Amino acid sequence: MFELQGAKSRSVLISGAGIAGPTLAYWLDRYGFDVTVVERADAIRRGGYPVDVRGSAIDVVERMGVLPQLRSAHIDTRKLTFVDGDGDPIATIDPEAMAGGVTGRHVELPRGELTSLLVGLTRDRKIRTRFNESIDALHDDGAGVDVRFQSGAQQRFDIVIGADGLHSNTRALVFGPEAPFNRYLGFCFNLFSLPNDLGLYHEAVVYAEPGRAAGIYAVGDSDTLLGFLNFCTDEPPFHSSMDVDVQRQRTANMFSHAGWEVPRLVAAMLRADDLYCDTVSQIRMPRWSSGRVALAGDAAHAPSFLSGQGTSLALVGAYVLAGELAAHPDPVAAFESYERIVRPFMEANQALALRTGGSLLMPRTQQDLDARNAALAAMQASGTASPRAEQSGEVHNSLRLPDYTRWPHEGYRT
Ligand SMILES: Cc1cc2nc3c(=O)[nH]c(=O)nc-3n(C[C@H](O)[C@H](O)[C@H](O)COP(=O)(O)OP(=O)(O)OC[C@H]3O[C@@H](n4cnc5c(N)ncnc54)[C@H](O)[C@@H]3O)c2cc1C
Repeated sequence: MFELQGAKSRSVLISGAGIAGPTLAYWLDRYGFDVTVVERADAIRRGGYPVDVRGSAIDVVERMGVLPQLRSAHIDTRKLTFVDGDGDPIATIDPEAMAGGVTGRHVELPRGELTSLLVGLTRDRKIRTRFNESIDALHDDGAGVDVRFQSGAQQRFDIVIGADGLHSNTRALVFGPEAPFNRYLGFCFNLFSLPNDLGLYHEAVVYAEPGRAAGIYAVGDSDTLLGFLNFCTDEPPFHSSMDVDVQRQRTANMFSHAGWEVPRLVAAMLRADDLYCDTVSQIRMPRWSSGRVALAGDAAHAPSFLSGQGTSLALVGAYVLAGELAAHPDPVAAFESYERIVRPFMEANQALALRTGGSLLMPRTQQDLDARNAALAAMQASGTASPRAEQSGEVHNSLRLPDYTRWPHEGYRT
């Protein structure tokens, strides 16, 4: 147990128990802070779509002592096949080749498993976690933050962190509506589960036509598959609120007369009770803090799933934010330092999604589709990562984490 000079039992409220929230809670508790976490959901859900922990984020989970558990939960996807309308393979590639340059520093596991692991770490500590709870209003008077919760409870904290995801409630309360910070990338996604009637295991199959893509992810040897139906649209069809049934019908219309297994996927999407749909967006903000309130994870810098880096960025950002709060008695100085250390890393990773993700998973035009197929054929023939994937690997690994257990630590520059 170690306690740094900034801690002094300061109280911190964290909104959100996804990836960034429990990571932050764990480190702040280790540094001697008094930590409360509120989570809107009534429990942590297991399963969910697979997420990646790679590059610099591997160092975070290693320092938290959970890398072996993550490796055991690794879903070991062995092949990724791109098919044509008849289901014939265009190319089959090793997903590790696409990870480019991070082989051995990459784990893929269901998001719910990672969240459960991280929240499990906070249970052994003094951290209070309250489910079914959310911040209703907050007032920062410069010396502390008065918070009123949805349950009606009220409490004063020294510091508040919004780790409540892409559509962050904390961000809305402090910085205003989401629209100016939400950079829509031109796609909508629909994710849902369906029975594994196809006998697929440890693999993913992707089918694309210009402007629409469908796929099946066989996570490990589960008897349930994850299906997705994604489409391009210049204007986002919904904003902060959406009617899921309207989205179901819109998606079904978008995918009428599509090839491969799309009719099966559309039928599954229409009856799925776990349909998860949203726009594909990034969050870009000029600042991540205001006074004694700061943002972490997707709330501050969502890169979109096209980068495959959202989880890793949430882990890295939370680790650095906790360390900087521990290193600085003044939260404003801590937040400035946090931003100075991680912002270039976050922005470089966000840029990857614009450079790479869309054209591979979601070619917009026939020309994009032809170029993608040629690139896939070259990757399959060589069995190696594309130069683009290698560049991505360099970006994933580009932040050397400060060691906050040493004093003065490398990141402390004020
Ligand atoms: C379809 C899809 C596929 C993805 N695929 C990948 C991938 O392959 N690889 C990858 O690395 N990343 C992927 N991501 C991104 C990844 O899931 C996120 O970037 C990551 O989970 C961000 O962590 P976070 O803690 O910031 O936010 P989240 O994980 O979103 O957690 C936010 C938490 O806050 C809670 N919350 C929300 N509102 C409130 C409120 N008002 N009060 C209290 N709590 C609240 C939520 O319930 C949730 O528990 C994908 C995302 C999506 C949507």
